Amino acid sequence: MATHTTRMLIIGSGPAGLSAAIYGARAGLRPIVVQGLQPGGQLTITTDVENYPGFRDVIQGPWLMEEMQAQAEHVGTRMLWDTITSVDLSGPPFRAVGDSGDIYEGETLVIATGAQARWLGVPGEQDLSGKGVSACATCDGFFYRGKKVVVIGGGNTAVEEALYLTNHSPDVTLIHRRDSLRAEKILQDRLFAHPNITVVWNKQVDSFLNDEATGALRAVALTDTQTGETSEIATEGAFVAIGHAPATELFKGALELDKSGYIVVEPGTPKTAIPGVFACGDVMDHTYRQAVTAAGTGCMAALDAERFLAEREFLTEHQTQAAQ
Ligand code: FAD
Ligand code: NAP
Repeated sequence: MATHTTRMLIIGSGPAGLSAAIYGARAGLRPIVVQGLQPGGQLTITTDVENYPGFRDVIQGPWLMEEMQAQAEHVGTRMLWDTITSVDLSGPPFRAVGDSGDIYEGETLVIATGAQARWLGVPGEQDLSGKGVSACATCDGFFYRGKKVVVIGGGNTAVEEALYLTNHSPDVTLIHRRDSLRAEKILQDRLFAHPNITVVWNKQVDSFLNDEATGALRAVALTDTQTGETSEIATEGAFVAIGHAPATELFKGALELDKSGYIVVEPGTPKTAIPGVFACGDVMDHTYRQAVTAAGTGCMAALDAERFLAEREFLTEHQTQAAQ
């Protein structure tokens, strides 16, 4: 079992963690990135990415993340394959223990563990992911332009996704399992007023059905929660919007989390309440949840970590001089 020490320890290797690594490495901090179970993060489970700036043509999510990792390594990042199982934030140094038994110590800690969309867990959902089933309208809505789409859920996310999808689709159906929405009233008002949105109440999704010829989504199968009656809605695009789960289990009790489990940061910054510990990307952002915003806050975390170290060194130098 080894102990790895660094000036900047980064947990997570999605766009947030790797962007922090690129900036940290270029500042000479020799960052370590502990990659976790999903090296490259959420974009590695998608195909076409059309909204990451810098690419005129459609790029592939896994390719983008390979490039980001290569760039981070090229400027001096150490990538380690391990999953953190516990942390001690009483430092600096901040300590993390990996599944391998290895110990990681950072003078600063950047948390970039991301979030995962919640899925319904019904037949067809996984098989048709990327072939009609998605959990991100901003990412994939464009691919269904002109087509009929459905959104599943009744919270703010589902309503926002339905409203967003009207930019592309003339026929959006929101499917909710109850007879009232959880979303804020202002969003509900916009939803009900929209001529291209229909709400289907009291229906649970039983499965996603494929078109045998194309292998893509053709319909969602439903059961009425009141009458037990079954039905189908034909659609080529289904957006599951039943919430996200931020990967913050490790930090419960050590950092402040909001009611949905996201890490609370000082507004407009990646600073947590513990000096030297920063959070970036989807783990602290339930609003935007995009690769480019994750990369942006990753950059901010690295810049703030660098400033934190510089200020500490300055103070230590002054204390030493004063003592002489
Ligand atoms: P993530 O990408 O979630 O990465 C989290 C990282 O943390 C992973 O590497 C994971 O292994 C690691 N980790 C977690 N726990 C631990 C642990 N205990 N120890 C060590 N490591 C850990 N956004 C767009 O901008 N455009 C798109 O087209 C787009 N398409 C998408 C398609 C899909 C199917 C999905 C799911 C998302 C899509 N997104 C898209 C959203 C985008 O992927 C996320 O906003 C972005 O990946 C968030 O980056 P992140 O670095 O914060 O976290
Ligand atoms: P949410 O508020 O937890 O709502 C999840 C919705 O999905 C609920 O309507 C729930 O139904 C439904 N659902 C959950 N599991 C389901 C299942 N297995 N089958 C069918 N439906 C299921 O999640 P969210 O909408 O993602 O919002 C999360 C947090 O982020 C909230 O605090 C929200 O306010 C916030 N947010 C804010 C904004 C904004 O301010 N603009 C935007 C997005 C999110 P029930 O209602 O029956 O439980």
